[in-house]
Amino acid sequence: MSSDAAAIPAAESGRLAVGIDIGGTSTRAGVVDEQGQILDKVRTQTPATASALETCLDRAVGELRERWPIEAVGLAIAGFLTPDRQTVRFSPHLPWREAAVAADLTERIGLPVFLEHDANAAAVAELHYGAAARGHNTLVLAIGTGIGAGLLLDGELYRGSFGVAPELGHLRLVPEGRPCACGKFGCWERYCSGTALVDHVVELVADGAGGGSALAREIGEDPGSLTGRRVAAAAQDGDPLAVAAFAEFARWLGLGLAMIGDIFDPDLVVLAGGLGAASSLFLDEAREHYRAMLTGAGHRKTARIRSTQLGEAAGVIGAADVARRELRAAPGG
Ligand SMILES: [Zn+2]
Repeated sequence: MSSDAAAIPAAESGRLAVGIDIGGTSTRAGVVDEQGQILDKVRTQTPATASALETCLDRAVGELRERWPIEAVGLAIAGFLTPDRQTVRFSPHLPWREAAVAADLTERIGLPVFLEHDANAAAVAELHYGAAARGHNTLVLAIGTGIGAGLLLDGELYRGSFGVAPELGHLRLVPEGRPCACGKFGCWERYCSGTALVDHVVELVADGAGGGSALAREIGEDPGSLTGRRVAAAAQDGDPLAVAAFAEFARWLGLGLAMIGDIFDPDLVVLAGGLGAASSLFLDEAREHYRAMLTGAGHRKTARIRSTQLGEAAGVIGAADVARRELRAAPGG
């Protein structure tokens, strides 16, 4: 584990909680204070089995606990939780299935452990400490490998009737479109994500684009090497193929946001995740598409679309924030 301690005395920080963002490949844990500042952090690979993952989480908290007076732990999880948020029902990238994670880890770690969907955790963090602070009805869209969405209606998380809303990344925008890991075809995130950027590049090359593109030459040499990050870096350098891939991305982002805009009429959209932090590459174009594709375009007020203020730390900060608030709401908290 790598660690990074900051020299802020605990007395100035209020109550401390650990937030843990469990990604498919890496797990990040941070000690977060009441101002949303990360005081200390550890990062580790995410193990493949449930027992190894639980050992890893116990160790990460144990390491941070040696240095800080921690009161609670929050886990940000990409997956379906039960409505009481005690059990992980299913997570595509994690080993837990119908696992009573909150109770098991509370007992094992010896601190109260709370669970939250990762996009909801990011939305809560942006609401309390970041770009969603002034929103009334806010959509927080975390765009990375896929799309995670958190919806804040009147400042409260909207969870749906059975605790799994909103799965906006898997709205089917293209009938018979690209296959998705969820089992469906044509999902929004297959056209608007880091993975989708790679697919846009490959399709553009297949259609004969790519003349004068360094990216096209790289793909010709090693087709499997392309990543969303590489496409973003090439677009920053003005590579025409990468710029064209981002134009496609912006079109699909605007189209999806317009559909969601017609349902929820939000006043604010916050773009988070790895690509949200790189929004200078597509934000203006996506805004134009969004405004043009809304029903009654030109005759209604439209949501502001902003980039994240917390970047990829939002999951850690939000998970800790959820844990601290749940602890305070509990009897005797
Ligand atoms: Zn899908």
